[in-house]
Amino acid sequence: MKVSVDNSRCHVYGICQQEAPEVFRISESGSLHYTANLPARLAAQARQAARCCPMQAVTVRGSARPGAGRRSGRRGPSASSGGQRIVVAGGGLAGLSAAARLRERGFDGELVVVGEELHRPYSRPPLSKQFLSGELDRADLAFRADEPLDAHRLLGTHLTGLDPVNRYVLLRGGERLRYDGLVIATGVDAKRLPETPVPSERIRTIRTLEDADAIRTAVYAARARRVLILGGGFVGCELACTFREMGLEVTLVVHSAPLLRRVLGTRLGRVVGRIQARAGVDVRLSTRITEWTDTGDGLRLRLDDGGTVEADFAVLGLGGVPRTDWLTGSGLDVADGVLCSAGCHAVDLAGRPVPNIAAAGDVARWPNLRFDAVPRRVEHLIHAVEMGQHAADSLLLGPDRAAPFTPVPRFWSEQHGTRLQAVGLPALGERIEVVAGSLRSERFVATYHRDTPLGEQTVAAVAFDMPRELLDHRDRIGTIRPRSSPPAPRAAGGRGSR
Ligand SMILES: Cc1cc2nc3c(=O)[nH]c(=O)nc-3n(C[C@H](O)[C@H](O)[C@H](O)COP(=O)(O)OP(=O)(O)OC[C@H]3O[C@@H](n4cnc5c(N)ncnc54)[C@H](O)[C@@H]3O)c2cc1C
Ligand code: SF4
Repeated sequence: MKVSVDNSRCHVYGICQQEAPEVFRISESGSLHYTANLPARLAAQARQAARCCPMQAVTVRGSARPGAGRRSGRRGPSASSGGQRIVVAGGGLAGLSAAARLRERGFDGELVVVGEELHRPYSRPPLSKQFLSGELDRADLAFRADEPLDAHRLLGTHLTGLDPVNRYVLLRGGERLRYDGLVIATGVDAKRLPETPVPSERIRTIRTLEDADAIRTAVYAARARRVLILGGGFVGCELACTFREMGLEVTLVVHSAPLLRRVLGTRLGRVVGRIQARAGVDVRLSTRITEWTDTGDGLRLRLDDGGTVEADFAVLGLGGVPRTDWLTGSGLDVADGVLCSAGCHAVDLAGRPVPNIAAAGDVARWPNLRFDAVPRRVEHLIHAVEMGQHAADSLLLGPDRAAPFTPVPRFWSEQHGTRLQAVGLPALGERIEVVAGSLRSERFVATYHRDTPLGEQTVAAVAFDMPRELLDHRDRIGTIRPRSSPPAPRAAGGRGSR
């Protein structure tokens, strides 16, 4: 089988190396190398790398996927072959991933994907990066499915309700769509603030292609020079990078301090703040906007420190709100996303897994038993791929046979040329240890730990410009070092080296 990488798309994020380390390798100098002719045993990981590449730069050709073409798959209580219908609610990545896996597992019934967007699934990460800057266009964002799905796609179709007892979803207009199995993958919407003036062409959020298109228009058509970004999470920070690259003056207003505190913690957040400030971003930490005025020529924003910022437009990067509006009254627990069992089945208000409904992606909240029994949502691309696959498996197997979904969450970012990669859930960390490089050099690996009743648990590892070194830590995520055991050998750099 053959692998190829489109170098004009590749941004050397290194995700493929994480997914298939025997196929892809990033050199010391930061370029991507790969084995073009692969033995069959590496086919599965190469394909997974291709699915997880946000730039859709990897192509894998040759030998059929495992299960492809097999039309009599495992029989589960919710979806077996022969005239049954599985509906996938949500036409994004998690939905695509679930649908592809159902076929891969041999589901030969009817597959219906319902999504309100007019497009086939596309990669959202470039929206705030390469699409905004004009490096990529609409057509470049489409996911290139491994093989035709053989599914009905109801694009531009809004779901308005669910009746799990009689097993149908409601479409706008009142039509009922019956199902034997259902995958809920309706993602999240961008959070807005009640105090921002609505409508204002000058205040934008970014979730969809249309959102990103509108921002591009705001930049180019209005010849914008100054932008204000509200929110210091990944989307806010990446927007700041993109707009600086485009030559705009950027003010980044953040309620808390430092940047990315909720995701990376205080010490690493400060490093990101340094990188942003050095690139010329005007970072206003622990600051709130108290008054928004659209003057007709631009925005005037009053800050709670007494200052004022003028901007041609503003973008809100405040995180996501789960798209569960259509599930109200369905009997499912949808407080902060669709609550799921450890195996990805949706859970009803009485706490029981619903046998023929699974959920996946940004919208799903489930207990990852690798860490603990607390249900959480994870909003990352690789997670959408993996949870979509697991939800499909679980749907076919039923709640009694479904395995718990215990992935190591993984994400990446780029901040003005510095590449960040993370495994695990840094937000759970109570203390960090720098195990390679140094924070001062902005090239390091830090591990995150917390105390549990059983001992110290490693919950995450984050690398700045050290993608290969991070690979050593992935398998340790979730492990607990009992208090009585001797300390693990230290890696080069030592604790807290700077
Ligand atoms: C600007 C931006 C940058 C990002 N950058 C990164 C990054 O660098 N790294 C990373 O790991 N992740 C990143 N992400 C997150 C990543 O894109 C998501 O985790 C992933 O897209 C989640 O996929 P999903 O299928 O769960 O949800 P979505 O992709 O949101 O798909 C859900 C779909 O369901 C549809 N839908 C919702 N409600 C209904 C309804 N009632 N009826 C019909 N259809 C409905 C929606 O319109 C949408 O098409 C970024 C996201 C954004 C927006
Ligand atoms: S995952 Fe990253 S490094 Fe690998 S091909 Fe895609 S963009 Fe390039």
